[in-house]
Amino acid sequence: MSLSINLGLIFWNIALRKKNKLEAKFGVYWDSELNPYCPICKTLLILEDLPVTETIRSKFSLLSEKPCLYCSKCDKYFSLRNDYGLPMSLGDAKKY
Ligand SMILES: [Zn+2]
Repeated sequence: MSLSINLGLIFWNIALRKKNKLEAKFGVYWDSELNPYCPICKTLLILEDLPVTETIRSKFSLLSEKPCLYCSKCDKYFSLRNDYGLPMSLGDAKKY
């Protein structure tokens, strides 16, 4: 009886871990719900819709004026890049 409960718990844990597994793509991490995460600390990134200033852009070598992603923990900005190193929007990235 207790063995089957334990087995159930183990499988539940595996399923949970699989769901929370982050996949690296386009320079950031993604969960199964296609939310972007920081490539450094794996915090959920905030979509920064403001036009980023030239200073910030050069500091973080951001590629475009497209909305970029911000990590509040690292205080860093990230742009999404495709396999060719070209900038892409969050919407484009989610299509993959
Ligand atoms: Zn971070």
